Amino acid sequence: MTNDCFICQRIALIKANKNPYLVRELPTGYVVLADTQYFRGYTLFLAKEHVTELHLMDPAVKIQFLKEMSWVSEACAIAFKADKMNIEMLGNGDSHAHWHILPRHNGDTPQPGPIWWVDPAIMYADNTAPAPDDLLTMKKDLNQALDEILQKYSR
Ligand SMILES: [Zn+2]
Repeated sequence: MTNDCFICQRIALIKANKNPYLVRELPTGYVVLADTQYFRGYTLFLAKEHVTELHLMDPAVKIQFLKEMSWVSEACAIAFKADKMNIEMLGNGDSHAHWHILPRHNGDTPQPGPIWWVDPAIMYADNTAPAPDDLLTMKKDLNQALDEILQKYSR
């Protein structure tokens, strides 16, 4: 934990049971819905450990983290009926390892392409925050899909 890290601060809220966006804790990270839902089902997978790069993780933890990320992505595809999944780790703004996991739907950008082709003022506008009941529905749907996926890979 570093005090000036936004993601560590969010994880502290999760641990205090004060983050309504939490979907589920996995062994290496936390699954949370994004604050903005211009792309419905936009999910983040936050590493538990404050580490700035994948290659700085303990090798065994890194492999587990990558596996869990792929499970979250698969669950998102099911829960939000994605036509295509997008997965990114950037960390230029918040340099704590985290995945952006986005269910994509045909026609959700002006031309076929990355989410970054949507004006950030539109993508992150206040009116893209989920309504409380919609947030609960999305969490329930994603949790159900995660149950299914975790079961699938536990065999
Ligand atoms: Zn951090």
